[in-house]
Amino acid sequence: MSKIAAKPALLGFDRAGLTDLLVGLGGKPFHAKQVLKWLHARGSNDVRAMTDIATHIREKLATDYVIGEPQVLEHFESADGTRKWLLDAGGGQAIEMVFIPEPARRTLCISSQVGCALDCSFCSTGAQGFNRNLTTAEIIGQVWLANRELAHSGEQRVTNVVFMGMGEPLANYRQLVPALNLLTDDFAYMFSRRRVTVSTSGLVPQLEKLGHDANVALAVSMHAPNDALRNQLVPINNRHPISELLPACWDYLRRTSGRSVTFEYTMIHGVNDQVEHARELARLLKGQPAKVNLIPYNPFAGNPMKRSSAATIRKFRDVLHHADIRATIRKTRGDDIDAACGQLAGQVNDRTTVRLGRKNFHVVTA
Ligand code: SAH
Ligand code: SF4
Repeated sequence: MSKIAAKPALLGFDRAGLTDLLVGLGGKPFHAKQVLKWLHARGSNDVRAMTDIATHIREKLATDYVIGEPQVLEHFESADGTRKWLLDAGGGQAIEMVFIPEPARRTLCISSQVGCALDCSFCSTGAQGFNRNLTTAEIIGQVWLANRELAHSGEQRVTNVVFMGMGEPLANYRQLVPALNLLTDDFAYMFSRRRVTVSTSGLVPQLEKLGHDANVALAVSMHAPNDALRNQLVPINNRHPISELLPACWDYLRRTSGRSVTFEYTMIHGVNDQVEHARELARLLKGQPAKVNLIPYNPFAGNPMKRSSAATIRKFRDVLHHADIRATIRKTRGDDIDAACGQLAGQVNDRTTVRLGRKNFHVVTA
């Protein structure tokens, strides 16, 4: 993605920001809707072509601002149709985004940070460390770019966006909220709240704020049914344990009138995949507006963990079903191009000094 540009990137302004900007240039508030339409609904990268905007405003925008379009470093295509783009993040770094076409939906999985500081013990992004937050323009630029690339090959636009790429979106709250505004704005991407999913490992204070500032679907990276195990797998749990996290999820649903929270649960052989774990998870979620998405662990270089067997995963799901908890098994997509969940690594110059987690971790062989 482009070097940090001296000129502000237009892709980074939501409707409120763009209204201020255009009024400041002598325009009218409704011009913001027109510019949003050009940039995001039509995917334009040329301010001078925005014919319904006064010429002097277009000139100002063209000289003092940039679009902020991402620069593609590499593009990969999986045998199953999944595609991955490596995008320039400046300074020799890169982030990744993944497009997953399915018959019923066309999902784009986007990144929110260059790396991640939260250090979950089974995640390739976490293993790379953290460098910086992405800007709103860099976050939204991924959706903008995917739609352009799809249009070029005569394909339909993205129908769903999930924040399940590199980074912890709620750790980049200030840049995230305008991006969510753009995704759900009727003049920009027009996604309904159910088609945009923020996935978090459980930053409770930011989750509480999100219920006030946005209205999108929520996925929570659970991965363990008790604090002792979750502390090891998802170290942020040491700060915000399950007893804080779950009430924050139900509160979020009440505020946003959402129907359910999806709990992601990576199935790691001999670590969190036993029937006892499923029963404990069922007790936690019973009677709550929850669904569980079981993700077969995806291996990556340097990590000793192993994927649970298909039979173990099915058994785990059945225990949840018997307790009346909805549970699905996520289909692994794009693993031949390292595009599956948790395999995104990009290129990160780690700046973290203190690493949580991983130490003292031990894999039980079942
Ligand atoms: N930081 C956010 C979103 C990015 S990770 C979060 O943690 O929710 C997206 C999902 O992939 C999360 O549920 C994450 O726990 C899961 N994941 C990470 N590493 C994985 C791996 N190696 N195999 C399978 N899923 C993994
Ligand atoms: Fe960060 Fe999410 Fe990976 Fe944990 S699972 S290290 S929060 S990207």
